[in-house]
Amino acid sequence: MAVRFQNYINGKWVDAKSGKRFRNINPANTDDIVGTFPDSQAEDVDAAVKAARKAYDKWRLMPAPRRGEIVARAGELLIRDKEKIAKLMTREMGKVLQETRGDIQEGIDTAVLAGAEGRRLFGQTSPSELSDKFCISMRMPIGVCGMITPWNFPIAIPTWKIFPALVCGNTVVFKPASDTPAAASKLVEIFCEAGIPKGVVNLVNGTGRNVGTPLVNHPDVNVISFTGSSAVGRAIASACGKSLKRVSLELGGKNAQIVMADANVDLAVEGVLWGAFGTTGQRCTATSRLILHEDIKDAVMDKLLKRAKRIRIGNGLDESKQMGPLINEDQRRIVHDYVQIGQKEGAQLLIGGKPYRRGECKKGFFYEPTIFDGVKPGMRIAQEEIFGPVLSVLTVKSFEQALKVHNGVAYGLSSSIYTQDVNLASRAIRDLEAGITYINGPTIGAEVNLPFGGVKDTGNGHRESGTAVYDMFSEWKSIYIDFSGKLQKAQIDT
Ligand code: NAD
Repeated sequence: MAVRFQNYINGKWVDAKSGKRFRNINPANTDDIVGTFPDSQAEDVDAAVKAARKAYDKWRLMPAPRRGEIVARAGELLIRDKEKIAKLMTREMGKVLQETRGDIQEGIDTAVLAGAEGRRLFGQTSPSELSDKFCISMRMPIGVCGMITPWNFPIAIPTWKIFPALVCGNTVVFKPASDTPAAASKLVEIFCEAGIPKGVVNLVNGTGRNVGTPLVNHPDVNVISFTGSSAVGRAIASACGKSLKRVSLELGGKNAQIVMADANVDLAVEGVLWGAFGTTGQRCTATSRLILHEDIKDAVMDKLLKRAKRIRIGNGLDESKQMGPLINEDQRRIVHDYVQIGQKEGAQLLIGGKPYRRGECKKGFFYEPTIFDGVKPGMRIAQEEIFGPVLSVLTVKSFEQALKVHNGVAYGLSSSIYTQDVNLASRAIRDLEAGITYINGPTIGAEVNLPFGGVKDTGNGHRESGTAVYDMFSEWKSIYIDFSGKLQKAQIDT
């Protein structure tokens, strides 16, 4: 019998009011049912928002260091349960164990930072222009935050949002992707064990249309924090615009690794293999384009093709495998459609280009590592996010041309350049249009201590992680304390 998971609303595990459920299957083996989950609707969202609103009154008054202690405890429980959750996550969404462990580690790292932030949440103070007067500012909580998350980082992304939001004094309604509800459920179990008061964190499972949309439109939700596709992000932004709701959007990418003529070839090849085929290419920061200087192209391609052909594909629970399946059949169809589009556009398919169905893999949504050469900057496979193990190789004659090709896309999340030349690296840092630039590292590998997010169509200017995320989940209040005993007029009595 499949495990029955529930929603978590107002401190209780409950079914959807309609009683409806949906199934979640293992993308590496469709015979394996991970569990059944409440197929919730607007009424369940409403109950969760009401609980979060009620809990807010008390939670916002709990001293921030105490809130931080609960978050830190959740981090300790993630350490304790890391292996168990990693296995469940691999079963649920396919990436290999090494990567699911890393996903949870990111949550643990965030808990360490957020827990300590409870003792900081620094404001700004400044001298007043008038006598006998103080000027200070402090971060205030905002209210109920709706957290809508994708499936590719089932613990890392929710914790990036939820831990800082809680430390700031907000309450939460969490709507995870319907492809990864089990990992979400484990996270909420951990909150319960860590001592989160009832109503402060609520979990509502279901589809984007039935749960995400009512959450976005709910008048008692003050903040929406969304990570997902640009198409959905645009719809959410316009809905939030109408009600002037605060919204942060972390969206798609079309990230590139540039390799200059003086680069260390072995290092660059290691980087692109990890960047393009890690998580089966299903990362917002995945290396989707490889921009090669013509003088180094043959050396890089020779090694890259040999290594890519040897990638061991299979069930991520088997530690000898390097690349798991795509998340579902729809995603495999999208990836395959892009491969056909690339061929029609005249790009040269060097390896891969079809579903991988050997042995046990025939029961899952596997796809071969795929590399296109001869890709031109205007082609759709050079412009659009594919979200699969497909790498487009573009050749350039100079650094200036590499920059132009790199920047000639709608997105701007992550970027990378391999070069030994400190001047080129410095120019890249300045001129690559992206929220993240790696020097001699692949496009993936962000650490939680720095801001995370992108420019252009990758978002709306907010950042997660680091200390920047606290700007999303708090509102500034400026306070003027006048102890002169008389009316002092700023800008006039100076
Ligand atoms: P998605 O946009 O399909 O779904 C994301 C979440 O939004 C899910 O929980 C989904 O149920 C919900 N949703 C869908 N339609 C909705 C609607 N109309 N209203 C409200 N909620 C709705 O994305 P996905 O397929 O889960 O994830 C892949 C995408 O996420 C890629 O584009 C990837 O680049 C992006 N991503 C971005 C980042 C980042 O930080 N920039 C990180 C990871 C993933």
